[in-house]
Amino acid sequence: MADRQASLSESPAQPSSASRERGSWTPQPDVSVPSPQPVSTFATAARPAAPADPARPTATRPAAGAEPRRSLADIIAEQERIFVDRQPESARLAAEAREALAGGVTSSWQISRPQPVWLSHGSGSKVYDVDGNDYVDMHGGYGAAMAGHAHPAVVAAVQHQVTRGTHFAQPTREALAVARELSRRFGLPQWRFANSGTESTMDAVHLMRAITGRDLIIKVEGCYHGHHDSVQVSVYPDADEFGPADRPASVPASAGIPRALTDLTIIVGFNDLAAVDRVLGEHPGGVAGMIVEPIMMNAGVILPEPGYLAGLRELLHAHGALLAFDEVKTGLTAGPAGAIGVTGVTPDIICLAKAIGGGIAVAAIGGTHEVMRHVSDGGYEQVGTFNGNPLAMAAARAMLCEVATPDAYKRIDALREQAVGGVSEAITRYGLAAHVVAVGAKGCIVFSQEPIRDFRGFYAIDDEYSHAHWLFQHNGGVFLPPWGKAEQWLISVQHDERDITRFNRNVLQFASCIGSEGNLLDSAE
Ligand code: PLP
Repeated sequence: MADRQASLSESPAQPSSASRERGSWTPQPDVSVPSPQPVSTFATAARPAAPADPARPTATRPAAGAEPRRSLADIIAEQERIFVDRQPESARLAAEAREALAGGVTSSWQISRPQPVWLSHGSGSKVYDVDGNDYVDMHGGYGAAMAGHAHPAVVAAVQHQVTRGTHFAQPTREALAVARELSRRFGLPQWRFANSGTESTMDAVHLMRAITGRDLIIKVEGCYHGHHDSVQVSVYPDADEFGPADRPASVPASAGIPRALTDLTIIVGFNDLAAVDRVLGEHPGGVAGMIVEPIMMNAGVILPEPGYLAGLRELLHAHGALLAFDEVKTGLTAGPAGAIGVTGVTPDIICLAKAIGGGIAVAAIGGTHEVMRHVSDGGYEQVGTFNGNPLAMAAARAMLCEVATPDAYKRIDALREQAVGGVSEAITRYGLAAHVVAVGAKGCIVFSQEPIRDFRGFYAIDDEYSHAHWLFQHNGGVFLPPWGKAEQWLISVQHDERDITRFNRNVLQFASCIGSEGNLLDSAE
């Protein structure tokens, strides 16, 4: 598997160029929608005024008469120098940490180029590094910090619970309140809890197998569902590992995943209903179900084409198989009812984590009565010492009932439009071969003129533009997730217009540098 920074990318699978031009996307007509989202939840914007020069395989076209630009490599080198100069204490800690922390970090995805950023604290919409620099935090801890930092409602809930005990391994009233609120939002009646997204998708896969008595699962190429064996397959394969587009190979995502297990995970492309139909036909009575990010968010942001998700459910059900949505990323961020609310398609099983805990580790798995009956009757033992612990439940209740409110979503919608507007302006003004895709609190710049509909389209995008953008944002006081084209920005409930203005200013400076004019960013606010 390729290095994540070098390989993962994002992209919007715009349903049609026509709807993309309008900057909106029509939800797929389908079944029960617990809380329908406005179509404006999706915002996409493009693009350079003229087609890119095919002889110039970059994301920019110099304006007529402009001087030849510095190379992208030079621009990145300059920005990395600024980055390192601003963070001597981070560099010192990173070097010291290598003694006691493997790789000098606490998770491999905290390694960033040119060096990891050591943080001191967070407050509101900002985080502060150990060198005293402040950043508008649009990293959000990989999408978990939608409450922002130290949100008063979460702080109060956690402080209260800490003084009353943080762990009993017995149910508490808070757990019931959280389950009820999740039912109301997502339209699935029954819930269990866990502690990470990985655990929730592992439970989903186990459940699908337990219910059907079948071993095979279908997974989408380029979707990440956590680090358990069954889904650590074709997460970010290299081009030479892909296999044919209509029959992608099942590639282990890291060392340590046995072939006997990857063989049980059959890979299909995103937005490819025909492939799912073929797999189901080729394995009659063999497929337990399919797990999918309904909006792909480990390859930028790739939207489902109209009818795709509803088509999956129909096909799977016709073959006695189940559909699980991994909404670990989209859960609260795509809208108050996640991708279910946005697309109108309700799966058999939903996996949630990240933002639902208001910054505390918690995960949830929800299902239909039919599915969760297998948990209730002990057919599948869904277990875990810390599942639904009172601390996590107190934070989740505050997040769901006091923080992620209708008003908060209204503010986020306005800020998203401000960000999309700023990025679009920069793209147009400097003729970047790029477009922006945003849904709810999430969004990203896609360094491609064409809409992206699957992992292979995403893979083809040059990751260096995303890295350069990340550096410009960082040096300009905005912290985006460090994994280049794979990740998205997150707008929290505590961000305001000034924060997005800073983000937009950085986009403009980045675009001016790699586009037609070219000044280096001055790191001062
Ligand atoms: N599912 C998706 C879509 C994710 O993006 C992630 C993590 O980034 C996971 C599952 C795993 O979540 P966790 O890191 O909490 O185990």
